Amino acid sequence: ANRQSIKQTNKHRVEFTQLAAEYKAVNLGQGFPDFSPPQFITEAFCKAVSGGPPMHQYTRAFGHPALVQSLAKFFSRIVGHDIDPFEDILVTVGAYQALFCAFQALIDEGDEVIIVEPFFDCYQPMVVMAGGKAVYVPLRPVSGTAVLSSGDWVLSAEELASKITPHTKAIVINTPNNPLGKVYKREELQMIADLCIKHDLLCFSDEVYEWLTYDGAKHVKIASLPGMWERTVTIGSGGKTFSATGWKVGWAMGSGHILKYMKTIHQNSIYHCATAAQEAVAQGFEREHELFGTPQSYFQQLPAMLHHRREKLASSLKGVGLQPIMPEGGYFMITDISSIAVDFKDSDTKDENYDFRFVKWLIKEKGLATIPVSAFYSPEHSKEFDKYIRFCFVKENSTLDAAEEILKKWS
Ligand code: PMP
Ligand code: GLN
Repeated sequence: ANRQSIKQTNKHRVEFTQLAAEYKAVNLGQGFPDFSPPQFITEAFCKAVSGGPPMHQYTRAFGHPALVQSLAKFFSRIVGHDIDPFEDILVTVGAYQALFCAFQALIDEGDEVIIVEPFFDCYQPMVVMAGGKAVYVPLRPVSGTAVLSSGDWVLSAEELASKITPHTKAIVINTPNNPLGKVYKREELQMIADLCIKHDLLCFSDEVYEWLTYDGAKHVKIASLPGMWERTVTIGSGGKTFSATGWKVGWAMGSGHILKYMKTIHQNSIYHCATAAQEAVAQGFEREHELFGTPQSYFQQLPAMLHHRREKLASSLKGVGLQPIMPEGGYFMITDISSIAVDFKDSDTKDENYDFRFVKWLIKEKGLATIPVSAFYSPEHSKEFDKYIRFCFVKENSTLDAAEEILKKWS
């Protein structure tokens, strides 16, 4: 692939995370919890590391047996398909490596990959690194009404269909979406599935925030729709699932005839993931399998807690006249900043997108870190969408209080 055209992945997050640390800013930027994971999962990790020799040595290359078995058991029920633990699952270093393996294994030189904007920013460089071409289709705010919810951003079936050419190989979706929080409805997924089936395309479905939905929004797996299991790679994250992003346990799930190509990439790059972390995530899924649908389930408790944090952040923003776009899922909220008049003193940033300048100003002058939303757009479209910033709310109440104090002072 052409090195020059590969955008430095996560450049903005690396840069803003460093800047936030330098200025000791209240950090609502990069997406990670600032609280501990639930006790059952940290105990499972402690138990694994204080266990016998096998916990400290290599395990099965394509996934620790306990983990692939618990994932297969758990997700078979949800996908409505008998998932083979040893054929249909690949454990990876976070969802990130699952994405990387999917693009490397399944995208060839000259293939086109359709990416729905705004998108998690590593998709584009990963497509390019595989020799493919990224083709974009935007979620657009519905016109005519006030855009108050991520559900008001929609994908046009005609526009999506118009992007498909004989070179198209795959469509990438992310539900719940980062940064918008959109949770695709079944009809929207069916529309995408119909096009995948009609044109014989793969679907890469990034579902790392699958348990985090609010106000009755329901996460649907596109792999569960008729005819989609065979052509979908579903990507998940133990870090997002159990609030332990530093463990970097992720997975790809799909039909063995697709997964086998991803396994080759994995085998020739990473080979094994850390054993004890996989064991702990396996124990977490065993517990969740037992408690599924009950109030004790972490998959109920975490969204219930985050629902409150979402309300808290939204009310802080509204309090200073910023209109949040309420996310139906995930742990990010975006807001339009065009109403705030700012006199940027930094003339060295004058060629940057407005939201990048704004975010730098906010960190340096006000001590609050967020992420510019144009970073989630292709270079072609980023200038059109540079009036929003993203706040992360998977944070302690005290962190959100500190952010509110800053907002109040500046307004
Ligand atoms: N996909 C999306 C949409 C994300 O927001 C993230 C960041 N957590 C990832 C994938 C990567 O997940 P992981 O930390 O498990 O590598
Ligand atoms: N997914 C998180 C975010 O969007 C962080 C991912 C990362 O920095 N690797 O902020």
